[in-house]
Amino acid sequence: MRSDSEFDLIARYFSWPAPAGMLGVGDDCALLPVSHGFQMAVSSDMLVEGQHFFADVDPADLGYKALAVNLSDLAAMGARPVACTLALSIPRIDHDWLKAFSEGFQTLSRQAQCPLVGGDTTRNPAGVVISVTVMGEVRRNHALRRDAAKVGDDIWVTGHLGSAELALRMLQGRLPADAARLAAARPVLERPWPRLRFGQRLAGMAHAALDISDGLLQDLGHILRASQCGADLTFDRIPAAPVLDGLDEALRRDMILAGGDCYELCFTASPKRREQIQATARLLDVPVSRIGVVVRGDALRVLDADDNPLPHGPGGYDHFRAAGTP
Ligand code: ADP
Ligand code: MG
Repeated sequence: MRSDSEFDLIARYFSWPAPAGMLGVGDDCALLPVSHGFQMAVSSDMLVEGQHFFADVDPADLGYKALAVNLSDLAAMGARPVACTLALSIPRIDHDWLKAFSEGFQTLSRQAQCPLVGGDTTRNPAGVVISVTVMGEVRRNHALRRDAAKVGDDIWVTGHLGSAELALRMLQGRLPADAARLAAARPVLERPWPRLRFGQRLAGMAHAALDISDGLLQDLGHILRASQCGADLTFDRIPAAPVLDGLDEALRRDMILAGGDCYELCFTASPKRREQIQATARLLDVPVSRIGVVVRGDALRVLDADDNPLPHGPGGYDHFRAAGTP
């Protein structure tokens, strides 16, 4: 789409003034400062129409979420956002859609202090494709890497799990829609809040961390493989979203353990850090739950109240089993 309209479109919707010390939209590259003693944390996530969002999704929610899922990666690394870029492919120029999309994006960009400094805009007849890249900074050797969990670490999770999955399944028609539950669960799916401030506080305090995008078990599995260890989780300690109360127990368990798209943080830390973690969580008003412990071996077990492993259910469990864990 090399046409005047492309330049108009960038000028109209995506040229926000860059903060002092940065060069933003308009040149061949953006220029960003890097603080002394810090490393740059960079992550990209792509959203494809039909695969990651419905074609008729509210464009303002889409703009917000395209940035939110990327910021969540910075949070999981313990990094502070510095700037982002946006590569956008659209089938046609629809001003109402672009206006709402850019406003949704900008809302979170402002809240998270992550200015848009560049990108690319193209036409794609097949549908909307969005790729956002975020850049953040984290103190050297303080980043929360997936390979840093240690045997004996506590395993923690922020927030409550399962509501985004519930909303998704209802919107997809895989579960009968229940208006009250959907209304309660939908904001978590559409406007997840990345745990940026808490993630930054964890840097240098916790060992390994990640954000839950594909389900607790599957994502925790990434930490365990990278760190070459196993885990015992206590099911009753895993914080379930209240909106799941009263659902069929197997379904509820599956949504807690395998439900994706929630963007809470799962992290490991030495038991010596318990009080510090609790105090930080209180200070920032972030719910945290200690759900298990890192153990030797490579098995991820979910234990019931009597310490018996729970049987495997459907869904995300299977992904995990396919990766070689009983
Ligand atoms: P180039 O030809 O160098 O790739 P473009 O014409 O694609 O430049 O873009 C012009 C300027 O607008 C660049 O600074 C680019 O980073 C920025 N830009 C293009 N698309 C977007 C977008 N969707 N969001 C933010 N900035 C954009
Ligand atoms: Mg370009």
